[in-house]
Amino acid sequence: MPFEAIIGHDRPKQILKAALRKEQLAHAYLFFGDAGIGKLLTAKMLAQAVNCEEPVKSGDACGQCWACKQVENAVHPDVFYITPDGEQIKITQIREMQDYLVYRPLIGHYKIYIVDDADRMNLSAANSLLKTLEEPPGRSLILLISSRPRHLLPTIRSRCQGLRFAPLSLQEVQEEVERRQQRSATEARIVAGFSQGRLGVAFEIDPDGVREERDRIVNTIGIDSAMQGGILQVFSASEALAKGESPTTALTWLTHWLRDILILQISSKPERLMNRDRLVDIAQAGERCRPEAIIGLLEGIEAMRQSLQRNLNAQLQMDVLLLKIHDAFEAPLTP
Ligand SMILES: [Zn+2]
Repeated sequence: MPFEAIIGHDRPKQILKAALRKEQLAHAYLFFGDAGIGKLLTAKMLAQAVNCEEPVKSGDACGQCWACKQVENAVHPDVFYITPDGEQIKITQIREMQDYLVYRPLIGHYKIYIVDDADRMNLSAANSLLKTLEEPPGRSLILLISSRPRHLLPTIRSRCQGLRFAPLSLQEVQEEVERRQQRSATEARIVAGFSQGRLGVAFEIDPDGVREERDRIVNTIGIDSAMQGGILQVFSASEALAKGESPTTALTWLTHWLRDILILQISSKPERLMNRDRLVDIAQAGERCRPEAIIGLLEGIEAMRQSLQRNLNAQLQMDVLLLKIHDAFEAPLTP
């Protein structure tokens, strides 16, 4: 599975291919970006390209040779994986790596270590790795993978070449889910929207489960009926959502729902909606709220998402947000 099989991530791929062609790979890379986005897959492809038996003039692996197959099946004798042992990556794991790196590669061109969830190295492990990064052994390549790069020591970050992996577009994820899982466009769209551009996550999502979750949240808020239940409904919905398993999930669905209303108001293109199976509700809601008000609500949701990360009172914020939504949909529209 060479680089071309990876969907999206054009920039990291270009950088790595250019480095391979010019034989100017860094000793260590840090692949960072959301979980489930394709960082580990790209690391695997790079390991293939580096140790492929065919000359890699194109900066890519052949994907067919014995070495490529061994990397694909995670049995290549020069490609190793380090993952957290329990909660943490421990110093014994890093020391074992250092012991191996002393020796030349057995059959490949490089010894490669892929450290997944590298931000979960404990301090002694991280300090130990730092020594290797400061004086990298010849013919070795260390690939750190992290969805929380800020949790890595700055000294580690600065000794790796960082490559950022951005979420894929809704369209890219939808097309892949349709193609690989033979799902309908409507199903694939909702899965894609919920995955937030993370293809690895999208493949794990059950469309029926996702739809049920959305309907539950949308019904709790009453936004499908433009919150006609009044203020009491607003507060009971707020309490339910704030105490629910994940207020951020509720915010995600609210965002998709409001964005769909806005898209329909502005473009009149139902095929672009994520919740196109609820087209009638979306269209009716759009008749009760102005586009400018929806943009304001979306901004409010984004602000709330950020303050939730700082552990501010979820219930209070949800009260405020749902009241704003209630008011936005209640205000009579004048032509
Ligand atoms: Zn190959």
